[in-house]
Amino acid sequence: MKEYLLETKHLTKAYGRRVSHLAVRDVSLQITKGSIYGLLGPNGAGKTTTLKLLTGLIRPTRGEILIFGEPWQRKHLARIGALIETPALYGNLTAYENLLVHAYSRDLTRARIPRVLEQVGLQDTGSKRVAHFSLGMKQRLGVAVALLGDPELLILDEPTNGLDPIGIQQFRSFVRTLPEKGITVMLSSHILSEVAQLVDHVGIIHNGMLKFQGPLDAHADLEALFMDTIRRSEHA
Ligand code: ATP
Repeated sequence: MKEYLLETKHLTKAYGRRVSHLAVRDVSLQITKGSIYGLLGPNGAGKTTTLKLLTGLIRPTRGEILIFGEPWQRKHLARIGALIETPALYGNLTAYENLLVHAYSRDLTRARIPRVLEQVGLQDTGSKRVAHFSLGMKQRLGVAVALLGDPELLILDEPTNGLDPIGIQQFRSFVRTLPEKGITVMLSSHILSEVAQLVDHVGIIHNGMLKFQGPLDAHADLEALFMDTIRRSEHA
């Protein structure tokens, strides 16, 4: 049997007491080691909820998460880097100082800070305070925070949100280098064009349900696949 880096079985989440409305319903997905997996879906489909479940920010109502071959436990977070929603950054500190705060609070070595700053292309920001960073720079610093613990799995929620076309291109080039460094990537997006040439596996989620999952080759028409999947789901 094939072993996955991450696998969910019937993962389900109802917020509060509204059990009639399941934000995530019976999602069984599999992520292969070394892949760049795109979780795609329209607004409100359940992408962020799924990623929050995988990173322990919220607990499942039902279902299972298997990670690194074991049932999900808090200890696994040390091997996962995540950027979900806006990164927690201090505007009055520099990029280096922000990473120092995170390293300190998570008991990580500061030795990796110059390396991760370089990985995200922020090595030359020196004494510039984060309050004066562009949105793209803040996003990259958020990714640097996620990389600080030298994760095996990097989970990014809508990482291209708010980036300009150059920022998106730089982000894509950067993410493409991660699998060869031993980092598997899972990212979410509702903007297909931004991730089409980046992801090699996709999951398409709609109304909380995983409607498609599979590998994606470089020539595949992701938009057609997406629209077709959503159309079928609406008529199901
Ligand atoms: P988007 O692309 O707009 O970010 P998404 O695919 O990430 O959407 P989620 O944020 O996971 O979608 O939301 C899925 C559903 O769960 C939506 O119907 C949303 O309104 C609902 N939801 C999300 N967070 C909460 C919450 N804290 N309490 C109640 N309902 C929530």
